[in-house]
Amino acid sequence: MTGGPIRGLLLDVDDTLVDTRGAFRHALVRVGRDYLRDGIDPEELVQFWRADRSGWYRAHTRGELTHREQRQRRANELHAEFGGDLMDDDAYDVWDEGFERYFREGWRAFDDAVPFLDALVEAGIPYGAVTNAASAYQELKLAACGLERVEVFVGVDTFGVGKPDARVFVEGSRRLGLEPGEVAYVGDEPDIDAGAAAAAGLAGVWLDRPGARRGTHEESAPSAAGVMRVSCLDEVLAALR
Ligand SMILES: [Mg+2]
Repeated sequence: MTGGPIRGLLLDVDDTLVDTRGAFRHALVRVGRDYLRDGIDPEELVQFWRADRSGWYRAHTRGELTHREQRQRRANELHAEFGGDLMDDDAYDVWDEGFERYFREGWRAFDDAVPFLDALVEAGIPYGAVTNAASAYQELKLAACGLERVEVFVGVDTFGVGKPDARVFVEGSRRLGLEPGEVAYVGDEPDIDAGAAAAAGLAGVWLDRPGARRGTHEESAPSAAGVMRVSCLDEVLAALR
């Protein structure tokens, strides 16, 4: 554990509170029916999407690409891989209208999210979200999942960059009225969540849900000081004691 007691928590949204992977699967299978070759394993689609092998989403979180630019590139990479056509701007607009609608249809909270938030309230631990998507969009997503009580403290739009930039974790801590050393960050990615939070002076908690790892993270395990690993949200409070 870290030096002092943890007095507040910052939470990732996607694949931590919300089953975003499941929502992507829902959307990818449906756009796949219209655009991609037949007979593709849905798991292959979702793994390809999440792996983001050219790093377009990461470029977006560094402020180098807009949300649209990153998604259009990823959509065209998906098509190149699975038998779809290259899409120009107009074709992509139609694709994205469907993709976004299906993605939103798939938004669900994980079963452990509400009990976890209840446990934080019970323990008197304040919390908020630090996320790599736009704040207003995440508020919409959280509300759609019945998690509107999670306030979004920092989004990718706050500073124009997201995790792993240390500023987002420091700002999240400030919003809790706490020093970074009094705060833990919980997220599903070992590097940009737990590792980056630890580098910013917080306690990093890697939520390693069974079966949820991205391809690029199969080999990686956080070894930095201040990083803990849990397999569900129910384990977080015990890990921090
Ligand atoms: Mg996440």
